[in-house]
Amino acid sequence: MSDRLMVKAEGVHKNFGRVEVLKGIDLEVRPGEVMCVIGPSGSGKSTFLRCINHLEKVNAGKLWVDGELVGYRQKGDKLYELRDHEVAQKRREIGMVFQKFNLFPHMTALENVMEAPIQVKKEPRGEVRERAAELLRQVGLSDKAGNYPAQLSGGQQQRVAIARALAMKPKLMLFDEPTSALDPELVGDVLGVMRQLADEGMTMVVVTHEMGFAREVGDSLVFMDGGVVVEQGTPREVITDPQHERTKAFLAKVL
Ligand code: ADP
Ligand code: MG
Repeated sequence: MSDRLMVKAEGVHKNFGRVEVLKGIDLEVRPGEVMCVIGPSGSGKSTFLRCINHLEKVNAGKLWVDGELVGYRQKGDKLYELRDHEVAQKRREIGMVFQKFNLFPHMTALENVMEAPIQVKKEPRGEVRERAAELLRQVGLSDKAGNYPAQLSGGQQQRVAIARALAMKPKLMLFDEPTSALDPELVGDVLGVMRQLADEGMTMVVVTHEMGFAREVGDSLVFMDGGVVVEQGTPREVITDPQHERTKAFLAKVL
């Protein structure tokens, strides 16, 4: 097995002013791994994903994505802070799906999926259109390609958002509670698409409280609380044999 890591965090700290939100996160995500992250509201889950995706700067500790230190470029043995356009470049390699889908309201599903490859990567429209149509097929929405977001259910919008992220051919996908805003009957289709993506070998970090998904699809499960990783292991280990009281108390609420 390759010892290459897609994400490596070493003592990652993040504070907002005097509030310490991440207090030393250590974890590793291997290529092809699906890591699920659970933990109470306010424990720093979103902040950690945002650090991976260059949306927040780490205050101390180190964070690598695919072997590169986030926010820096190495030249010889010197580190240089990335410029804005370099950060933008790095962010393109990571797909992120939020609780709120944030589709462009004035564009159809197909146009939403096509937008970034055309505008950002300047790829040829014809090629992008074909790929976007294929992606919509993969998320089960071939028949909705011409619909505007307002004409789609929340679950359909979220699947378009996933297809839109995939259109940039990311090497890593981050999901921040992708099903929390959905009516219960729409959750399954979105999780189904994520499961399919996992089966195809995508590396994923998924903040979710869908414990069925974590158990069946996750390779690893991390429980965060108060800005630290309290416990991590295989989903089976963490769910059936939690070692810490805080993990037990949390699981009692979500299972
Ligand atoms: P989670 O996703 O686990 O619910 P978050 O990462 O969203 O947790 O938030 C962790 C803590 O950081 C919360 O107390 C939140 O209020 C605080 N926080 C998050 N973003 C900011 C920000 N931009 N400025 C100040 N505080 C923030
Ligand atoms: Mg959050």
